[in-house]
Amino acid sequence: MTEKNEKPFVEVDVVVVGAGPGGMTAALYASRANLKTVVLEKGLPGGEVNNTADVENYPGYAKISGPELAHKFFESAMEFGAQHSMENVLGIELHGNVKHVITSKYIYVAPVLIVATGSQHRKLNIPGEDLLSGKGVSYCAVCDGFFFRNRHLVVVGGGDSAVEEGIYLTQFADKVTIIHRRDQLRAQKILQERAFKNEKIDFIWNSTVEEINGDQSVESVTIKNLKTDETYTYPCEGVFIYIGLNPNSSLVGHLDITDEEGWIITNEKMETKIPGIFAVGDVRQTHLRQIATAVGDGSHAGHMAYQYIQTLADHPS
Ligand code: NAP
Repeated sequence: MTEKNEKPFVEVDVVVVGAGPGGMTAALYASRANLKTVVLEKGLPGGEVNNTADVENYPGYAKISGPELAHKFFESAMEFGAQHSMENVLGIELHGNVKHVITSKYIYVAPVLIVATGSQHRKLNIPGEDLLSGKGVSYCAVCDGFFFRNRHLVVVGGGDSAVEEGIYLTQFADKVTIIHRRDQLRAQKILQERAFKNEKIDFIWNSTVEEINGDQSVESVTIKNLKTDETYTYPCEGVFIYIGLNPNSSLVGHLDITDEEGWIITNEKMETKIPGIFAVGDVRQTHLRQIATAVGDGSHAGHMAYQYIQTLADHPS
């Protein structure tokens, strides 16, 4: 560590930003290749996996709780000497081939940066959503489902998350109504079948939620039928919103490595167009966002980090 300006510089080979499945796998591969690797994460290691009740499509486990799988990933990631630090990354700077990753405590300096910052749930941006957030409006069934015992809940969306979390919520709620803007779900067939069989779940099709109403807590939603344009008030006590994801890529927004929606563009080796910067997992432009795909991404990036550093050693600038 060398002191410069007011923040100490920490020199490593690889900085991984984000400790979800992709970031942790990248750290495992990089550190096992003897690269000095640090993983920076502002929250709990595991990312979105921590908010998943049961994972049943990760090979090797018939069913495992999200937090348990996250813990296993973390143990594996640290097995070969990678360091983990709970820090919020404030900025990223390029100095030739060298990447500076700035946190509130340090400036990490490395030839390789692996961006594994994931994504976050999209908001509906409708009246009442912010006001009643935490008072019946939620984006995390695993975190908040417990508080809705014997209640009537609404889930907005038609993808894997809406259907899976809707099913999860039936263990607490009396009734879960899934409101979807089309007449067909986007979710995997196996989840659809489970939802259709579940007596506590019903559907409102071709409809959007226009407003969330309530004083101290959620009392109803205003629904618009897109076929008839009819709007009406529908009583419920909680609203879980699962309408897709937005990339957490603002840290690299100035580097021109994303598409117009902010997803980071990589090739199949997880390389961005900037040498030495890789992206893995949900933040990447990809057609499938799964734990298994993030793990695959991470193994590529960790391996390619080694290759890239070898190239630098062979051709010093
Ligand atoms: P998603 O697959 O993008 O689905 C979003 C859903 O919300 C779609 O049904 C979409 O409708 C609807 N929607 C989007 N914007 C809307 C709006 N403004 N108002 C109303 N509805 C809106 O997102 P996700 O379900 O969060 O899943 C994200 C990723 O994680 C996916 O790749 C998914 O496969 C993966 N995932 C996998 C699992 C699993 O494997 N068990 C579990 C959870 C998530 P349309 O269908 O009309 O577009």
